[in-house]
Amino acid sequence: MSFVVRGKYANIWGMERIFIKNLTEKIGEEVKIAGWVDVRRDHGKLIFIDLRDMSGRVQMVALPNHKEAHSAASKLRSEWVVEITGKVNKRPEKMVNKNEELGGVEVEIMEVKILNEADTPVFEINDDGREVNEETRLTNRYLDLRRGRMQKNLRMRHEVIRFFRNYLSDKNFAEIETPLLTKSTPEGARDFVVPSRLYNGKFYALPQSPQQYKQLLMSAGMERYFQIAKCLRDEDTRGDRQPEFTQLDLEMSFAEQKDIMGIIEEMLITAIKNLYPQKKIQQIPFPVFTHKEAMEKYNSDKPDLREDKNSPDLLAFCWVVNFPFFEKTEKGGWTFTHNPFSSPKPEHLEMLMKKENTGEILTTQYDIALNGFEAGGGSIRNHKSEALEKVFEIMGFEKEKIWQDFGHMLKAFSSGTPPHGGIALGLDRLMMILQNEPNIREVIAFPKTGDARDPMMDSPSDISKEQLLELGIQIKKPNK
Ligand code: ASP
Repeated sequence: MSFVVRGKYANIWGMERIFIKNLTEKIGEEVKIAGWVDVRRDHGKLIFIDLRDMSGRVQMVALPNHKEAHSAASKLRSEWVVEITGKVNKRPEKMVNKNEELGGVEVEIMEVKILNEADTPVFEINDDGREVNEETRLTNRYLDLRRGRMQKNLRMRHEVIRFFRNYLSDKNFAEIETPLLTKSTPEGARDFVVPSRLYNGKFYALPQSPQQYKQLLMSAGMERYFQIAKCLRDEDTRGDRQPEFTQLDLEMSFAEQKDIMGIIEEMLITAIKNLYPQKKIQQIPFPVFTHKEAMEKYNSDKPDLREDKNSPDLLAFCWVVNFPFFEKTEKGGWTFTHNPFSSPKPEHLEMLMKKENTGEILTTQYDIALNGFEAGGGSIRNHKSEALEKVFEIMGFEKEKIWQDFGHMLKAFSSGTPPHGGIALGLDRLMMILQNEPNIREVIAFPKTGDARDPMMDSPSDISKEQLLELGIQIKKPNK
């Protein structure tokens, strides 16, 4: 990895700032480093300052013989941003700090440039922050994210996403963005809606997932799509959920269940081997259970198969297949269990088309579970309009309503749409498990609180009278 910042311009701009991580290669040399004051220990004559940047942390020392630097160092406080010119010294064997990556070196401070002072932080930054109240952490998230644990979580998240991107790109998948301002999709959750200013009284919906667009990309002949996609669902807060979350979303043409499952399984195994070599995947290939087997054996459709549940580096994946397509609603009708766009198992297509034995129809849905969590799910889709129409008929939709809501899908499916299927992995949950964190907020840069607020931005918030007027919206009674 290259940490060169200025490259060929270094000579024009003076000494190049280097990253702390690279100090071990510069023993005996004069260097410029920059970052945040982690801790200052003032022993009068000797002032020790630990300096932190995104690559690491190093101990520096100000000696009384560099007068100006010594006096400047005595003023520094935690979280001040400074640029230091200094000499890299190797520490004598006895003084090596084995607990620190850069414990073998020390920087002798020659010059201190204060780039910004900082108020006393509201909480400690050089511990893992688990004791700090979450509201305070989220209100001051820019400080909270400075701690080593959070820096690592976000960097590993990036590494995992980068791995997936490269992996899929190498398999000829194209990353394609789909709109955020869209129309309500029937994915089982409540939509977030956005009022239209140009069409007062009308609303966009934010996508619960890119489901319809990714299928339309298959109609469009793209064949292999993926996206690191934001999904938005206005659900009542339940446990460890976020109103917006991230999926690795994927769709593939001319694919069967085994193709999608195979790609995802291989991608996960390779990513973990490369990025988390310390982790052990309990069983490869991942075991596959039918929904019935999983329920009978484990009473769960996302069983925790770990042989040793105390082992933090054990990963037990499994697939669950053959879910019932439909389930009874409270009112006695039928609704889909997973995804209305799924196709039934090929041998059950006839039952769907004849609308017979609805409760017995099984779907091509496949879910992937990891250590007792749902890590993702997908299905092979109906790519013929008659079959999709039947799904909505079984759910009691009138023909007119079906065409009004899904006319675009039905038309696309009558215009040469290939057989296709896909899947989405929950990235937040996957990262939570890989990073051994207790909840997904620890692996999201700016999450909402458990009750869907952002206490740092103070959202949701009021909007001005002018904004409401433009949107043609009148607030009757705030729902407090
Ligand atoms: N759209 C589905 C979901 O969000 C995933 C899929 O079937 O591809 O769960």
